[in-house]
Amino acid sequence: MIEELKNCRLCPRKCGINRYEKKGFCGENAQVRIARAELHFWEEPCISGTNGSGTVFFSGCCLKCCFCQNYEISAEGKGFPLTENELAETFLRLQNMGAHNINLVNPTHFVPNIIKALDICGESLKIPVVYNSGGYENDETLDLLGSRVKIFLPDLKYCDSEISMKYSHAKDYFEQAGQAIKKMTAIAGKPRFDENGLMTSGVIIRHLVLPSHRKDSIRLMDWLGENFAPDEIMVSLMSQFTPVYQAFNFKELCRKTSTFEYNTVIDTVNKYGFDGFIQSRTSADKDFIPEFFDEKYY
Ligand code: SF4
Repeated sequence: MIEELKNCRLCPRKCGINRYEKKGFCGENAQVRIARAELHFWEEPCISGTNGSGTVFFSGCCLKCCFCQNYEISAEGKGFPLTENELAETFLRLQNMGAHNINLVNPTHFVPNIIKALDICGESLKIPVVYNSGGYENDETLDLLGSRVKIFLPDLKYCDSEISMKYSHAKDYFEQAGQAIKKMTAIAGKPRFDENGLMTSGVIIRHLVLPSHRKDSIRLMDWLGENFAPDEIMVSLMSQFTPVYQAFNFKELCRKTSTFEYNTVIDTVNKYGFDGFIQSRTSADKDFIPEFFDEKYY
């Protein structure tokens, strides 16, 4: 049994429940579940490279954002169970397929299981591990990872606590995510790349510009500018907001982000001199949602 799951405080919800007996807010018990493990070509170029990133999509989520594109797995329970041994085999399968890295998508609530799987792989796993999360993290959980993770890819979603409460049921989102990003930067250091331009370590902060909320996005970019030097982090700005799932319950989210809204946020990122990625607006559609599975298929 994994000790941390008996009194689960892995994410800022700190449910304190025994996940061997029941599920917490994240919707998951003690057994790892994933919904897909494949090469993925639509991450940032320094992550996807030419061969693809070895993405593993974990089921459940500590946030449950109303506009989640992956709501089938984050909120509706899609996915299939794996033992830690099978998870380790999955990581090695992706490496054998040519993945540049192992990309843990939404891993927070399964961190101790992932650590077990990574330790089973040991030195057989030679590619870097990417921690790709919603940014809603506890320092203690990030500490558990030790040096196993080299690249962090956290979201930074909202600044205002009313907005984070309304869309993700997390009033303390910014407080937790801001602190987590500082911690991730301390763990991973400045962005580093190999001779092919692939990231080997560092932090890329992702921000999805929501329709009707450009001022909150600008506040976040200002916060980054005030807290990080341009060479300490990278910023990836995304424009692909498409109303899905419960976004239709909010009138202000029932459209795509406008060019004006997106450009004003880009201007703020440029003002602080951060390197990074600006996603083309043509990618703003649902084709980016991959297929998820209910049964092990590989
Ligand atoms: S990981 Fe799940 S059970 Fe654990 S504290 Fe977070 S929401 Fe609760």
